[in-house]
Amino acid sequence: MPSPTPEPESFSDDDLLFTCPHCGKNMAIEKQGMGLTIQCPDCRGLVKVPELSEAELERLGGSHAPAPGAQPEEIPHIDFLRDLCERIQGVQKKYGEIESRFSRQQEAVQALQEEVHSLQETMETLTRQMSESASAALSS
Ligand SMILES: [Zn+2]
Repeated sequence: MPSPTPEPESFSDDDLLFTCPHCGKNMAIEKQGMGLTIQCPDCRGLVKVPELSEAELERLGGSHAPAPGAQPEEIPHIDFLRDLCERIQGVQKKYGEIESRFSRQQEAVQALQEEVHSLQETMETLTRQMSESASAALSS
């Protein structure tokens, strides 16, 4: 039977698999992203990516595993990723604000359109009444 979330098998071996603590969605992130705080694509909650033990890193990275004693902070990618992550979160936040502002404007535009429509109807009614009373005045 089909599953609403991707099965772990569809993720690469190099990806970290973890579960959103807010909505329970299964997610994957490149292992360089461990320890970062990311935004859940489903519920938009902030999720801390779990860090792997050295043994797991060894298994995942093989010969590319950091030398013993190396701190994750020494990997230049981490700073870059964290920076990128913050920028993405900032853009997503801005996008959300613009989206909600846009939908409010759409509602306002719709209200204006309805108002214009009802004014047009009023005008048509008045025009009809005027021409009716004019023809009534003529025929009397
Ligand atoms: Zn979530």
